[in-house]
Amino acid sequence: MHHKTFVSHLECSRTGERVPAGRLQNLSPQGAPLLVRYHLQRAARDLSREAVEQGVRSLWRYAPLLPLRDPAHAVTLGEGMTPLLSTPRLGRRLGCDRLYVKDESANPTGTFKARGMAVAVSMACELGVRKLAAPSAGNAASALAAYAARAGLEAHLFMPRDAPRANSIECEAMGARVTMVDGLISDCGRIVAERQQAEGWFDVSTLKEPYRIEGKKTMGIELAEQLGWRLPDAILYPTGGGVGLIGMWKAFAELEELGWIGPKRPKMIAVQAAGSAPIVRAWNAGERESEYWDAAATVASGLRVPKALGDFLVLDALRESSGTAVAVDDQDTLDAGHLLARSEGIFVAPEGASCVAAVGRLLRDGFLESNEEVLIYNTGTGLKYLEAWETRFEPKVTARERLGGLIVPR
Ligand SMILES: *Cc1c(COP(=O)(O)O)cnc(C)c1O
Repeated sequence: MHHKTFVSHLECSRTGERVPAGRLQNLSPQGAPLLVRYHLQRAARDLSREAVEQGVRSLWRYAPLLPLRDPAHAVTLGEGMTPLLSTPRLGRRLGCDRLYVKDESANPTGTFKARGMAVAVSMACELGVRKLAAPSAGNAASALAAYAARAGLEAHLFMPRDAPRANSIECEAMGARVTMVDGLISDCGRIVAERQQAEGWFDVSTLKEPYRIEGKKTMGIELAEQLGWRLPDAILYPTGGGVGLIGMWKAFAELEELGWIGPKRPKMIAVQAAGSAPIVRAWNAGERESEYWDAAATVASGLRVPKALGDFLVLDALRESSGTAVAVDDQDTLDAGHLLARSEGIFVAPEGASCVAAVGRLLRDGFLESNEEVLIYNTGTGLKYLEAWETRFEPKVTARERLGGLIVPR
């Protein structure tokens, strides 16, 4: 295991201004997300794909490409190394010869949020933080609660009152201080921003600290490794704050600089919910940034982000990759999730299901061709979303009706 870091500095994603690494940072002086930069030339000499492949079975096998000074400081629950599943029966139904699902539901707390929080909490620990706070649509809260408990830190969480019940119950169980807010995630974010200084909290809001992106970046590295150090033709990603997409795009650039993959990139496709689609609207209008989406509403709670801090980074990646952005309404999302579940036995979060619907649409439109290799990110498990799924799958008959005469009276 490599006990050395290749971190060089932090960089403002808007201006390129350099900020020193190795101390607590939130946004850049210009108020934009900070990106971690590495000495990749040096890393290329010291690291190899073969050595990485021999590493631990978690995202910490990529520790030399992560910001932790000492991987022994990692706060871990075994996150990462999730299944990459070929889904031929679903593919036939949609008209796609080579369709894959990267199933992030296998992560601790059931969603890919574990990747970002594992790295962010590990870094916060290494830098001496004791109290963490975040607004969350639900799944980031669960992941933060878990890693904070694992590290023995305080977690202060603010969620919209209509966040999935599974999330608030899970957070309470793990000892977090949970506040349910009558409002959107943006209202929750305002509360954290207002109170953090007085309370001594470190704000781990999406993209307001530099390390959750690094954790999510491992989705891109891991995908390349699992495909034998190459990438598919297209990646569909359910986009809320866009961190996963930004992280993967960053990973691909770093992998190319290391010489581990070539210049070919997948078409990056951002999928949003029709009731909360600021990035799709900006993409269709040819804008470089999105505008606040009023009254955002969708069952895919992770996609209910009215304005993402990193919207311009998402839009850049879509443009540079010749990708696109697609909005799917909730009905189509639930239909597609049902199709995936009964075709392949994968019960997904509505966020992942929206990408299944988007594949069907893009094949019909001709944006995707049947012989292209297409990968869907399923970001979470369907079990976190019983309120959404029970609208479709409420048992229609009682046990007595179903079993009829089989019930033996006592
Ligand atoms: C948070 C979340 C998303 C959106 O993630 P971003 O990377 O911030 O766009 C998608 N799906 C699920 C299940 C989530 O919890």
